Amino acid sequence: MWILTLLLIGGSLCIWIFTAITFQKQLRFATLLFDLLPFYPLIEVVAAISFTIGLHLWLPLEYVIFFGCIGWVIALLLMHQFIKWGRGYRLDQYRMFLHTIKDDRFEIVLFNDHLHGEFSKNKVNVLLRHDVDISLSRARKMYEIEKEQGIKSTYFFRMHAEKYSYNEAKSLIAQLVNDGYGIGLHYDELSFTRGNKEKAIALFKEDLSELRKIGTTHIVCAHGHSKYKNRAMWEELDRESLQVWSAYDIIHDLYISEAGGKRIVDSEGKHILQKIEETTIGQVIQVLIHPDWWF
Ligand SMILES: [Zn+2]
Repeated sequence: MWILTLLLIGGSLCIWIFTAITFQKQLRFATLLFDLLPFYPLIEVVAAISFTIGLHLWLPLEYVIFFGCIGWVIALLLMHQFIKWGRGYRLDQYRMFLHTIKDDRFEIVLFNDHLHGEFSKNKVNVLLRHDVDISLSRARKMYEIEKEQGIKSTYFFRMHAEKYSYNEAKSLIAQLVNDGYGIGLHYDELSFTRGNKEKAIALFKEDLSELRKIGTTHIVCAHGHSKYKNRAMWEELDRESLQVWSAYDIIHDLYISEAGGKRIVDSEGKHILQKIEETTIGQVIQVLIHPDWWF
């Protein structure tokens, strides 16, 4: 019996610690380990029930009530936190955003085309960018939604991601190119080589030519890393001969990014993507969406 008690109580505590850590990491762990995001509230309830049963098998009733209440408070707090975070990253909201930019007022422009001069002075020009950091399946889901809505965007792929290999990404990249979507390099060579600039620069050239075997591209953007800033190699690349430009160098009137969770819905309940409605004709707007977080 004590083994069952230990499993029930220990298991629930592990779930709470795991989910609390994932919030610290902006839910990236949830994508990294399992595709758990849609099940978070349910997991918290299951943990609270197991915890209460475990206590019941072990302690007298008054202790069960006392510690059980603490368990439910933890579960409810984590659920609340999840709901608060998750309300900003629902794919339905993304669909609504796509619906908004389908309007005649907007022109969806691919980064590579914009570099070559595509710009509409009679419309709001929207450059839609996706950094594929972790999950190819989430990127594919986003692409399918865009395809269904008739919207084209640019997907930036990493060559040295922890959770997908370039070989695994190739079929999605080829499909995007085939459907007229844009592709770019989400360069991570400096973090991959642990700060060795010389190696990173050589690798960048190789990676870019590898990507160009699937489709033409002249656009890149740096992947963020806590220790090795990939952006630090940018100035040292021979961009002229490589014919590359960074998404950050593109002049825009407004930059909308959903990174960082806390700002995605403001105190008045306004979603960050609604900022697109405040734009005016002739402007260039860059929108950054990380498919990893949307579910
Ligand atoms: Zn990134």
